[in-house]
Amino acid sequence: MARDYYAVLGVDRTATPDEIKKAYRKLVVKYHPDKNPGDKQAEEKFKEISGAYETLKDDQKRAAYDRYGEDGARAGGASGGAGFDGGFGFSSSQFSGFSDIFEEMFGSAFSSGRQQAEQHYSGSDIRYDVSITLEDAYRGKKIGLKFTTLVKCAVCAGTGSEGSKRPAPCPTCGGRGSVRQNHGFITLERACQTCGGSGSVLSDPCKKCSGSGRVKGEKTLEVNIPAGVSSGSKIRVAGEGEAGFKGASPGSLYICVTVLPHKIFTRNNSDLCCSAPISMVSAALGTRIGVPSLDGVNCEVDVPPGTQSGTQFKVRGKGIPLINSSKKGDLIVEIIVETPVSLSKKQKEILEQFAGERDDKTNNPKSFEFFKKMRDLFS
Ligand SMILES: [Zn+2]
Ligand SMILES: [Zn+2]
Repeated sequence: MARDYYAVLGVDRTATPDEIKKAYRKLVVKYHPDKNPGDKQAEEKFKEISGAYETLKDDQKRAAYDRYGEDGARAGGASGGAGFDGGFGFSSSQFSGFSDIFEEMFGSAFSSGRQQAEQHYSGSDIRYDVSITLEDAYRGKKIGLKFTTLVKCAVCAGTGSEGSKRPAPCPTCGGRGSVRQNHGFITLERACQTCGGSGSVLSDPCKKCSGSGRVKGEKTLEVNIPAGVSSGSKIRVAGEGEAGFKGASPGSLYICVTVLPHKIFTRNNSDLCCSAPISMVSAALGTRIGVPSLDGVNCEVDVPPGTQSGTQFKVRGKGIPLINSSKKGDLIVEIIVETPVSLSKKQKEILEQFAGERDDKTNNPKSFEFFKKMRDLFS
């Protein structure tokens, strides 16, 4: 019984995906079984709408339908409909139109049964934590990793099959990895029990790995930590996670980097920052200080006379490299004026003499202004 999907949704054959979605939503609200309990006709109509939408919302299926009709659409959409699984505990190809709406509402937490099967049978991702020094982060570092994980079985080369016999398509699901069961007008899609969702069965499973295609093993590899890496960075090494089940794709290895605190420098993105305490006298008279940078070169910073505590000086290009770039951040030197402590008798006398010579308005304009304002406030 050929149906015209366009007529079902009440749209033109030239309708845009947006128009199709709109029409579908309108109809779904009207014919939803929750709104029409016990109404067989509404239920039929609802099924029809959902079926039509499943085909027309998908560019590939729609094109196949336009050319070959319903059968063409079915063949063109071999991967089946996306259902909304997970939180709702069931998945339905006929409800698939809903998944779009749910995805808009809840993000993409709803994936199809097929995708779930694939996720389940590819290898898991692995996290590996490394701690490096700031110097390593500056230069980049090659690190050796060693860890135990599931690796591809060497006997069967990961196929899970002994000898040269290839795995055969699963007779239960025909290789799809999932089966559909009709419950009234709801179609449930589940991972196939016979093949565990992999879509294939082994006539002669490998003895070493019991047909899983993977065994516990130790993995060693070298990874380049790029210069410029920062604490909290994750470096993905594709394909170096757990081996997949029966030759399915392996997971990824994620290297989580912690950059250890440095004695002198802190970091602000690609800038290196440090505090340089100088004496009150140097701050007043001016001085030149040497600050080491991570490339081993001493940077000279001119501190002019009358420099205040907290003043920052920038040395361009002496910071951390930007990842995958020849550029570098800056070195920021913050001056801290250190008030002298443990004064000798003579030093005290000199400072007292200095205080007598001092003119607040000229020598300490900030403090002069502040106390003037305070006096004004209370007079
Ligand atoms: Zn094996
Ligand atoms: Zn199966």
